[in-house]
Amino acid sequence: MDVVVIGGGLAGMTAARAIARRGERVVLLERTHRLGGKAGSEVRAGRNVEHGYHVFPTWYPNVREILRELGVTLVDFDRYHYVVEGKFPALVSVRGPSDLRALVHNLRHGILPWYQTVLFLGSTLDLISRSLSEKRLLDRISQIGIMREAWFMTEEVAELNQENMLKASAIPSYDMSAMTAKKIGSYWMRQASPFLSVLPGDLQETFIDPFAALVRSDGVDVRFGTEVTGLEMAGGRVKAALTSTGPVEGDAFVLATPFEVARRFVEGEVYARDPSLGNMHWLEAQPMAALHVRLNRRIPGIPKEHVFLHGGQHGLSFVDVAQIWPGHAVPMELSFISSNFAPLRSVSEADATKALLDEIKRYLPIADADVDSTVLHPNVDVPLFINTIGAWPNRPDPRSAGIPNLWLAGDHVKNPIDLACMEGAVTSAIAAARSLLESAGHADLPEVKIPPTYPRPLLAFLRFAMTPALAGAHAVARLHEWLGRPT
Ligand SMILES: Cc1cc2nc3c(=O)[nH]c(=O)nc-3n(C[C@H](O)[C@H](O)[C@H](O)COP(=O)(O)OP(=O)(O)OC[C@H]3O[C@@H](n4cnc5c(N)ncnc54)[C@H](O)[C@@H]3O)c2cc1C
Repeated sequence: MDVVVIGGGLAGMTAARAIARRGERVVLLERTHRLGGKAGSEVRAGRNVEHGYHVFPTWYPNVREILRELGVTLVDFDRYHYVVEGKFPALVSVRGPSDLRALVHNLRHGILPWYQTVLFLGSTLDLISRSLSEKRLLDRISQIGIMREAWFMTEEVAELNQENMLKASAIPSYDMSAMTAKKIGSYWMRQASPFLSVLPGDLQETFIDPFAALVRSDGVDVRFGTEVTGLEMAGGRVKAALTSTGPVEGDAFVLATPFEVARRFVEGEVYARDPSLGNMHWLEAQPMAALHVRLNRRIPGIPKEHVFLHGGQHGLSFVDVAQIWPGHAVPMELSFISSNFAPLRSVSEADATKALLDEIKRYLPIADADVDSTVLHPNVDVPLFINTIGAWPNRPDPRSAGIPNLWLAGDHVKNPIDLACMEGAVTSAIAAARSLLESAGHADLPEVKIPPTYPRPLLAFLRFAMTPALAGAHAVARLHEWLGRPT
């Protein structure tokens, strides 16, 4: 069988490899001249520059399986930090909720006072203990809507949650589906240690290039510089991918481009055979930008773990890769992500860089003379799918309902992870490859690993058992509010 995979991001690479390993002939068509898509780096200003730092939580079983195969050992972190404007070098360190000691640490040293931290924990438990039978309803409610309906909610807890969610996903929490927040929270709560991990080097060189070598050694024919412009149909099936260099025919097709591209192909007979694919026009994406700031001196007090700039306009967080990548011979390289880059969309790159740097200088003691170089990756042309309220029914399934030889893969395709991330992309790709191979009569099928969660009755019991603590913490918060004390 000839299989054509369109799009060489993590999803396309994973699907192509899984199918080729089972003996099918696979061609992978990629528009650019490298694999990896949003997960990777490009050469800018003479050096590899990541699209943005990528974190690998423990609940990434499918991505971690690939890393294990590549022999990559991740760098684990059990905490992250907040810096408040004008307060550096003071940092507020938050530990992942891995055990009682971590919880006690967060109660004593969290960004919010202990009683607000109790309420924060209560609201997380409240969300993740919701019934799965509410799945459809939860997808139609915002995360913040669910949180604010709780009787013990305070403004401070709601705001912190909103900030965390924005930084993690580039989605304002009034837009974020409660179902997605529930899933991420459930996976993270169950596998909280290590809280998150990062690669011991640049994303392209450490992960994507070695993975691309595996993809090719398994027999995938990778064709770079091949932009697909449409799908040619014949007899209700896809006959060929139309490309700038001519049609590429096949027996089966995996469409692994981002949805902004995939939905352009849903016209004529493609739409007539599977109108549900037209729902991709409802999906939304936002840019998540990266700013790489290389410094010519070390700033004492900057930790090796992630730091969130608390408050700020552009949703900035960073990690100092010079402390993580062995042999990276620069004094300091701060890799920032701006999760609220939309307001800067129409601003020139130079002005956007200046706006971000101005904000950074309000939080960290960086002078112009300290900055060796900056590189901005606005990612405006490769925005990230965002899990808005009600997005779930508009996302495609891994297999087209009406076109028997068409499969879809990518972080926007329905999958158990739900969030647009590497694990979502890889999980959807394994599901698509599995379905394709099954339909071709293969018995040896790739396994879709799903991260574990705590049983819901246990979470509901814990939430119920917390009621007295929540009542007490809520009363203290109200008292502070009444006395006009800052909380
Ligand atoms: C700044 C930033 C930070 C992020 N941080 C994290 C993180 O910390 N953790 C995490 O898990 N995820 C993170 N992500 C998300 C993660 O990178 C993506 O979810 C994932 O890489 C998506 O993979 P994909 O294969 O679905 O899509 P993509 O990576 O978009 O791949 C699609 C591929 O299709 C190709 N293509 C497009 N159009 C065509 C065409 N017409 N013909 C042929 N080929 C085409 C593209 O060139 C690309 O190679 C981040 C993303 C960004 C931008």
